[in-house]
Amino acid sequence: MTSPPFRFVFFDVDSTLVTIEGIDELADGNPEIARLTAAAMNGDIPLDEVYGKRLEIIRPTRERVERLGEQYRTSLVTGAEEAIRTLQEAGVTIHLVTGGVEQAILPLARHLGLDDRAVHAVRLQFDQDGAYRDFDRRSFLARPGGKELVVRDARARSKGRAAFVGDGVSDLEARAAVDLFIGFGGVAVRPRVKETADVYVAERDLRAVLPHLL
Ligand SMILES: [Mg+2]
Repeated sequence: MTSPPFRFVFFDVDSTLVTIEGIDELADGNPEIARLTAAAMNGDIPLDEVYGKRLEIIRPTRERVERLGEQYRTSLVTGAEEAIRTLQEAGVTIHLVTGGVEQAILPLARHLGLDDRAVHAVRLQFDQDGAYRDFDRRSFLARPGGKELVVRDARARSKGRAAFVGDGVSDLEARAAVDLFIGFGGVAVRPRVKETADVYVAERDLRAVLPHLL
């Protein structure tokens, strides 16, 4: 088997692998939260300004986060499972790099056949009774530029070319750390991402990224 042109492919999760924004789901339609999320993903406000603020308003319980994990599994973008499987069969190492909640992303990753070590997300802390306490404030992924650092760290372990697939401005920040940045507009179109991405995929099917990666 010849080796694939990309040794690593990094995927964002919300609005890239799935059609929902996890934090907006946790907010159960609170329009203030949706407004803050859109502003952050469009690059109008720095991520760290909204990250803790949104969680402090929502204060999601452990039970609600578990339910988000189920919502994720039923909200996959068309072709997402096939795209991941095809890349894995070609020998590509996949990582999920997201500012989403780790406890909800892990079941999605397992469903996709990915190892827990492939998941880079933000862990929430709960009280014994499952009430929200805080998020992991040490996480790079709750801050601007965090995805770039996570990608560089993952790549440091083995040689090879890397690509990133994502919809948001926080994804675009990882562009300097990869050889190819694919903007995905199949769920949400962010103008700054569309203008700056090396390749922009507007199809509503994630398999549309494969010709650029294999
Ligand atoms: Mg996203």
